[in-house]
Amino acid sequence: MSDRTTIDRTRLAELAGRERRSFAERNPRSAAAYRDARHLFGRVPMTWMNKTAGGFPLYLDRARGNRVHDLDGHEYLDFALGDTGAMGGHSPAPVVEAVQRRIGELGGLTAMMPTEDAEWVGAELTRRFGMDVWSFSLTATDANRWAIRLVRAITGKPKILFHAYCYHGSVDESLIVVGPDGRGVDRPGNVGAPVPVAETSRVAEFNDLDGLERELAHGDVAAVLIEPALTNIGIVLPEPGYHAGVRELTRRYGALLIIDETHTFSAGPGGATTAWGLEPDVVVIGKAIGGGVPSGAYGLSSELADRVLGRTDLDLIDMGGVGGTLAGSPLSVAAMRATLEQVLTDAAFEHMSARSIEYTAGVQAIIDEFALPWSINRLGARAEFRFADPSPTTGTAAAAAADAELEDHLHLALANRGILLTPFHNMALMSPVTTAADVSTHVETLRAVVAELVG
Ligand code: PMP
Repeated sequence: MSDRTTIDRTRLAELAGRERRSFAERNPRSAAAYRDARHLFGRVPMTWMNKTAGGFPLYLDRARGNRVHDLDGHEYLDFALGDTGAMGGHSPAPVVEAVQRRIGELGGLTAMMPTEDAEWVGAELTRRFGMDVWSFSLTATDANRWAIRLVRAITGKPKILFHAYCYHGSVDESLIVVGPDGRGVDRPGNVGAPVPVAETSRVAEFNDLDGLERELAHGDVAAVLIEPALTNIGIVLPEPGYHAGVRELTRRYGALLIIDETHTFSAGPGGATTAWGLEPDVVVIGKAIGGGVPSGAYGLSSELADRVLGRTDLDLIDMGGVGGTLAGSPLSVAAMRATLEQVLTDAAFEHMSARSIEYTAGVQAIIDEFALPWSINRLGARAEFRFADPSPTTGTAAAAAADAELEDHLHLALANRGILLTPFHNMALMSPVTTAADVSTHVETLRAVVAELVG
């Protein structure tokens, strides 16, 4: 690897400084709005919005399809797409229509009554993911939380097992990494953990079947809750045989398998579950299925559902710990129906994957041209480069490959040239309306930014 390019840190610092100045000059209205936001915790509507390479967030004016406009009048090609929440594009016409009909003509945004859209959505999720019955939430986080409660209740086992450096939302149990002695410890920065995470959880590295078996052998794991590929620490893909091994071990040790498809939905209309023939007991999904309207869902096998419903001691109706007032609301299910029926269709996924293949090839060509020690992985409609080659095979190795200074520079240089990447990733996500020309623009811009840095 010694013939690989190393980044000159002095040059990087110089260019990064120039991009920060340019960002501040280009965006006076966003800067002022941020400066004046004195009644917001951390000056932002949600604390993670302080994850910004330029020192302040760009304020949104409007967005349609894969184009976003900020408060200072700049247009961006959006490859962040709300970190998957807008994978179908911003405000796709069928979702706008369905939501407007629900809001205006029909009325009744939340009324403690089901609508017929819900069964349509359940049937469609069954067609795509294969789970028999579905329940709804407003976020993927809540779908994960409620799935965890159900599997604990029916197995009688206390712990949930996760991959190190997973992300499944702000789920208490999931904030675990492998500590120096190989055992689970709280993820660095875990805010106000109710109990030390090792009391509720176990952890194994992605792609490590021996580690998984070692943890499962304790016999106290209710379920293994995983993404089919890690997507929140770069994309870490499964090695051949990994998922067959996970399923075999979970069955052998009496643990259920929960697959969180919130991001890996990019793999196809039925996520990685269908694309790779996985056999989960529970599927969780959120974000993209609502086309931007808060939505989430978890699906169970009918066998599992019957076991839960047969338990008269579990309060699934009132205050037993599963459910939310607005979950499955008429608005949310109308948006899910429109998204699944007309936006994120089987044909749309073909288009998105084709664009993602073009993007991946384009970035690989940049990596090759400049002999960068980077790699890129693709998962259907999403692709992400990482500052490591070969691509890391575990979350811990992927975390070690982080380079915040370099990542911030690339994000900011792209933003200053009209391209948005997801703040937490070097991830590019394709929507049904992303064109081959959009992909070329992104690749050419990235090439110019890289050439300036190392050329
Ligand atoms: N699961 C996965 C795999 C995710 O990536 C995320 C968010 N990035 C979540 C769950 C949580 O989604 P939300 O914040 O919308 O609840």
